Amino acid sequence: NNLPADPNLDNTRRQVLEACFSYVDPQKTSNPEMLHVSPEVLQDLGFNNADSETEAFLKVFTGNEVPENSKPYAMCYGGHQFGQWAGQLGDGRAINLGEIEHSNKSWILQLKGAGETPYSRSADGLAVLRSSIREYLCSEAMYHLGVPTTRALSLASTGDQVLRDIMYNGNPAYEKGAIVTRVAPSFLRFGNYEIFAARQDKITLKKLVDYTIIQHFQHLGKPSKDTYVKFFAEVSKSTLDMIVHWQRVGFVHGVMNTDNMSILGLTIDYGPYGWLEGFDFGWTPNTTDAQHKRYRYGNQPKIGLWNLYQLANALYPLVEEAEAFESILNQYKTDFDIQSLEMMRSKLGLQKPDTTDKLLIQDLEGTLQLTETDMTIFFRNLANFKRENPLGGLDIVEQAFYNLTEVSSEIRNQWNEWFVTYAERLKQEQLSDDERRQKMNLVNPKYVLRNYMAQLAIDDANKGDYGLIDELFKLLKNPYDEQPKYEKWFAKRPEWARHKVGCSM
Ligand code: AMP
Ligand code: MG
Ligand code: MG
Repeated sequence: NNLPADPNLDNTRRQVLEACFSYVDPQKTSNPEMLHVSPEVLQDLGFNNADSETEAFLKVFTGNEVPENSKPYAMCYGGHQFGQWAGQLGDGRAINLGEIEHSNKSWILQLKGAGETPYSRSADGLAVLRSSIREYLCSEAMYHLGVPTTRALSLASTGDQVLRDIMYNGNPAYEKGAIVTRVAPSFLRFGNYEIFAARQDKITLKKLVDYTIIQHFQHLGKPSKDTYVKFFAEVSKSTLDMIVHWQRVGFVHGVMNTDNMSILGLTIDYGPYGWLEGFDFGWTPNTTDAQHKRYRYGNQPKIGLWNLYQLANALYPLVEEAEAFESILNQYKTDFDIQSLEMMRSKLGLQKPDTTDKLLIQDLEGTLQLTETDMTIFFRNLANFKRENPLGGLDIVEQAFYNLTEVSSEIRNQWNEWFVTYAERLKQEQLSDDERRQKMNLVNPKYVLRNYMAQLAIDDANKGDYGLIDELFKLLKNPYDEQPKYEKWFAKRPEWARHKVGCSM
């Protein structure tokens, strides 16, 4: 590619100016071991299973050998973190090996946790097994749920110990090091553009935007003011699509900083993410965001828009017409209303739009939050609702209530009222109960990566047992299917896991 490279080849932490990336080699690891490989991603890249069992595969995807023709690099980007401009961030622990083309698709391969780069700031460039398992399992699970996402090729342990500031008895603890190989058509983020705009480096900004359009938005035509605006419109659209999917499956990203927003509308950077258990618009898995809850479930669509404003500001110098951007940003709001209503309709098995749907959905969302009610179980079981028997509804969804004693007779009445309205509404539909159930089961997953499930896999892995990683990986390949042998994973979070959340460090 012809993006400007950083001429400085040493690895000191620094501000990298007028360059989009720096060359940097991965760090060698002491005792690498391949723990899991995604067969689907292997295939997409044109590898076969035998390839993944070779010594070369292990070496390359743990950073111990740089493939021929590869010149590994880390990208320069900035970002708004929790609403504040944070300056240069960049790939502090991600190293790109290069690109693979297969079946007319091209993929960037990136090692996450492969050592220091000029962008590592005060950190070590490494990743621990705990957060790597979370990223590996969740990104593949999201793919199988039909949510746009970066992928993961492999999960390996490095054999090295990594110091983390999780305290045990007041002391920092060592954890096992690991590397996930991430795969995506591009890892460009909003922050890649913001950094050059913030530095008023219009030349590099233009080079990067032109490159992006030529590589990934070719259908928009040659780079020009007009294509820059169209490019922004597409990013806006794909960002919204992605977030509506998150809302559908109950995924809360947790750190929607602009450096974690993909230019292709892919879910990227699986850190302190979490899955809704009790349906709650106010929930965030990110303990560092507990006060303002900026990135809570119900706020994700608005934050997507806020982030798009930052991208619009970054692209503005190339266009210098605010109106074009403003109308796209306004469109996001309109489209969000339309798409989220459509998405909720699909979760309820409603095909023919009706003016009362908005109210029906609002009532449902309110009722769901009266007591702690498991989102996944609720919608999955709702598919079994019979429109001739509205008062049977409560029995059907009862499994979703965390604490039955909280479900007072008053709340039961509210539920019954809602079920009666829902049953009436369903009578306008053509589908039979059975047909509706089948449709609903295609949008309401039965299995998601609940936080405690990942935690169990992590606990086992820390003891050297990787069986659960494989079991969860296989389970989550078919999230919408009934899988009797895995029925135990269709269950509410156990009480011990109530306050356990993930961590990205
Ligand atoms: P995140 O909050 O994961 O999106 O990361 C924000 C920034 O911190 C990015 O520039 C990361 O590359 C960087 N970063 C996170 N963890 C590490 C680490 N262990 N070593 C170096 N840089 C890191
Ligand atoms: Mg990040
Ligand atoms: Mg991260």
